[in-house]
Amino acid sequence: MPETLTIALAKGRILDETLPLLARAGIEPSDDLNTSRKLVFSTNQPTINLVLIRSADVPTYVQYGAADIGIAGKDVLLEHGGEGLYERLDLKIARCRLVTAGIVGKPVPRGRLKVATKYPEITRQYFLEKGQQVELIKLYGSMELAPIVGLADLIVDLVDTGNTLKANGLVAIDHIVDISSRLIVNRASLKMKNQAVKELVEKFEQAVAEPSA
Ligand code: AMP
Repeated sequence: MPETLTIALAKGRILDETLPLLARAGIEPSDDLNTSRKLVFSTNQPTINLVLIRSADVPTYVQYGAADIGIAGKDVLLEHGGEGLYERLDLKIARCRLVTAGIVGKPVPRGRLKVATKYPEITRQYFLEKGQQVELIKLYGSMELAPIVGLADLIVDLVDTGNTLKANGLVAIDHIVDISSRLIVNRASLKMKNQAVKELVEKFEQAVAEPSA
């Protein structure tokens, strides 16, 4: 009996780049993931199912084995900590940068800084290494607003084109880390479903190496 694998995919921005990669790996979902309200999808491969969840939840599903494999941003993986899972492949999609940013032309105040972010763990670690005292303000979105309304001195956020920062009078200050999506594998699945996982990882390796159309 061939083993069944469940792959956890992130909704939103990453999905647009994930679907062509899945197609190059030979996996076609049975429904349109962008329009369907379903959360579980079968595919053209009888042994592969997909679940569609929030990006920040992907490592958790894979950690607990609710999905064998996941596709998640490095930002989300760093924030999660990586317990119970292996990062197997850089998929080289959804590339961007994690940066600190502040208001254009406004000097960063001395002393304890207020930093708003969706990534408290990465941010805490980053400023700890710099020896800078910070007060972390956890937000769930629209980080760019925080400095404008005086909620924070700085934000830590993802930047791609830089258009969102620019549109809000902000500028990137420090580069923290380059981000791209990664293929992650549940530790137990890697042992128990070794053959199936290995074959799937190889398909993704080929898909990454193939130039996109
Ligand atoms: P941009 O205006 O192109 O610099 O994009 C910045 C906005 O898009 C910010 O709100 C980011 O949080 C979000 N963003 C950019 N790249 C990514 C990505 N790879 N994954 C998730 N969100 C992203």
